[in-house]
Amino acid sequence: MSGRPAVRDTLKELGLAPSKSRGQNFLKDENRIAAIVGAIINAAGSTSKLLEIGPGLGALTLPLLASGASVTAVELDRGLAENLSLTAAAEYPGRLNIIHQDILTVEPGPLAKEAKAPLFVCGNLPYNISSPVLFWFLRHRHCFSGAMFMLQKEMADRLAAVPGTKDYGRLTVALGLWCQVAKVMSVPPSAFHPRPRVESVIISLRPRQDDEAADITVSPEALGRFTAAAFAARRKTIFNNLSKVYGRDQATAALETNSIEPGLRAETLSPRQLAALAGCLETTV
Ligand code: SAM
Repeated sequence: MSGRPAVRDTLKELGLAPSKSRGQNFLKDENRIAAIVGAIINAAGSTSKLLEIGPGLGALTLPLLASGASVTAVELDRGLAENLSLTAAAEYPGRLNIIHQDILTVEPGPLAKEAKAPLFVCGNLPYNISSPVLFWFLRHRHCFSGAMFMLQKEMADRLAAVPGTKDYGRLTVALGLWCQVAKVMSVPPSAFHPRPRVESVIISLRPRQDDEAADITVSPEALGRFTAAAFAARRKTIFNNLSKVYGRDQATAALETNSIEPGLRAETLSPRQLAALAGCLETTV
């Protein structure tokens, strides 16, 4: 991407202004971009096809194409999608498939089938939809060999949190059950235009093999319903929170079956303990 005009000038030329509601903080730091692209290529390996979420002006897309990859990119903003489509068609004909759509409505199954390979999904995510995108990834995890996402540092901390800490919550439990999560690198606000108020972190996700997650009997959706109940009031006991949603008898039975003290708080239980409880309770509603 080196030698390309500055983000500010490109936006001006296109008559576009960064949209806050679409989380448009564009990467502008060439060194960081090169490091991120290298990490994506390394993690994706040679057998996966790349799916990028929110390519924007192509800060990651164009160097990925330059490295020889073929990319499918999903962009919600029509102006950005059209601009990138034109640029890529001129420089890398036939290698960028751009889909003008909301990523949360994209079914990756047919894309993986068409590619005849698992997809590796990447993106500097619009921060306002990072959490739904992570749940979208989990729901469709069988289509993916892995993911590399830029997130707000605060959210990355939540993914890597351990039980008993304030960052440990619904997202930690869900991601930890079905994926291996690792922090890859930090990215400061100065790497973007416009500057976000917060630090960012790149994380990598690897779906666990089926045999590693064989004892988990709930779906991510069912687990999501369960953890909404279990973490509803963080200062209350697991028994009080679960009774409210599932009733006292069901809550007592599930806690007894799993030998879990009713006086504990959800945030002190491991993802496996919470999944076991969810397995009991979510089959009963
Ligand atoms: N990848 C570019 C970069 O790093 O410079 C842009 C990243 S910017 C943080 C997020 C991008 O996601 C924007 O291009 C925005 O228009 C796009 N976007 C926002 N909401 C989206 C959605 N629901 N589905 C797909 N793309 C979305």
